[in-house]
Amino acid sequence: METDTITAISTPTGEGAIAIVRLSGPEAISVASEVFKGKELKKVDSHTIHYGKIIEPETGEVAEEVMVSVMHAPKTFTREDVVEINCHGGMVAVNRVLEILLSKGARLAEPGEFTKRAFLNGRIDLSQAEAVMDLIRAKTDKAMSVALKQMDGRLSGLIQKYRQTLLETVAHVEVNIDYPEYDDVEEMSHEMMREKTKEVHAEIEELLQVAKQGKILREGLATAIIGRPNVGKSSLMNTLVQENKAIVTEVPGTTRDVIEEYVNVRGVPLRLVDTAGIRETEDIVEKIGVERSRQVLKESDLILFVLNNNEELTEEDKKLFEAVKGLEYIVIINKTDLERKLDLDEVNRLTEGNPLVTTSLLKEEGVDELETAIAKTFFSGEIDTGDLTYVSNVRHIQLLKQAKAALEEAMEGIELGMPMDIVQIDVTRTWEFLGEIIGDTASDSLIDQLFSQFCLGK
Ligand code: GDP
Ligand code: ZN
Repeated sequence: METDTITAISTPTGEGAIAIVRLSGPEAISVASEVFKGKELKKVDSHTIHYGKIIEPETGEVAEEVMVSVMHAPKTFTREDVVEINCHGGMVAVNRVLEILLSKGARLAEPGEFTKRAFLNGRIDLSQAEAVMDLIRAKTDKAMSVALKQMDGRLSGLIQKYRQTLLETVAHVEVNIDYPEYDDVEEMSHEMMREKTKEVHAEIEELLQVAKQGKILREGLATAIIGRPNVGKSSLMNTLVQENKAIVTEVPGTTRDVIEEYVNVRGVPLRLVDTAGIRETEDIVEKIGVERSRQVLKESDLILFVLNNNEELTEEDKKLFEAVKGLEYIVIINKTDLERKLDLDEVNRLTEGNPLVTTSLLKEEGVDELETAIAKTFFSGEIDTGDLTYVSNVRHIQLLKQAKAALEEAMEGIELGMPMDIVQIDVTRTWEFLGEIIGDTASDSLIDQLFSQFCLGK
């Protein structure tokens, strides 16, 4: 059980007119009341908000005009006493308030510590806690709604349901083994076990299928634009950035910060990574050869392969077709405003059923069709997150895969007619993997590591 009182600025830094400094813990109210001039905070009702001033302890000067919310445990996010101080004087004043609170004995919260407490105090489960983190990082509205849903506990609900089914079968087997004399407990037959494991297996598979989409919504579609020099790659890049909301984020890397640009195309966040030279690559094949190009290109989720309508197909183009064979790509025949010199039949043949669109980026023609094709590649059309429960977290996907594998071993055992007490070992493992998703069977170190990824102040 945590016993100290933590504090942090819980709104994004540098943005917005209002910033909130949050306090949580047994001393939250007394720390706040020591530096607050206004109503006696120790005496106000829970869940009320009060106007007043934060005072510099040493000089008695007013540091900031504030609105203070007082919330008593347990009906708070952390289930501890919580005080939220709404400041409006910009980052300098907000930081000053934080310092004053720290000087009065509150400790600076570690990243994710508020959420961690909410989890440890049973307010939310692990998948919900992770959803809070996703929410902070959500790159598009759709990613946001996926995160919201997860926070809602939908994923948890499903996982719990599967675990319950598995637990019942395991318990059933246990009873059969421990109390063979109980005639009224039907013996768990291979047939029953087969049915239950099949049921859960099918559900996990379904979750994994939507997981891929969820992951993309969360992390963006790693996208590479390729083609010979002068076909229009830069123009395409510019068009996509101009037509859509571009989000630039800095990703702290090990050696240097990588700048990633996100472009929101119909709710699909394209991640145009400016690294390893795969974002916009002139003559990649010339430089590193077909095989190595393939290796590089394999790392992207989507390749936009641009050709020039005004020129005949060259050897270089053909090599590019070889390099993208079997990968997810869209062929873009650009410069349709100029005379057609490209052999369309040949291009069609090489494209092997992948989407092909024609554009004139100069005249801004065909861009809509291209965006539709991009959205279709992964979501078979416009997606509606409204009725999908997504699993979008890499850790969840990993655990679901492990659960599925363990369950498959159990199913194999059943088919081979293995004794029930052997089969149930794998069923129990499945149950444990699923439990890790919602934090039931997760180890402490895992929990610490997860919460440390949170933004400060959440
Ligand atoms: P990159 O080398 O593949 O990045 O090609 P750029 O985007 O730099 O374009 C090369 C040249 O082609 C520029 O002068 C563009 O203005 C021009 N260009 C791009 N798209 C079109 C188009 O659809 N029609 C015509 N006529 N010119 C285009
Ligand atoms: Zn270029």
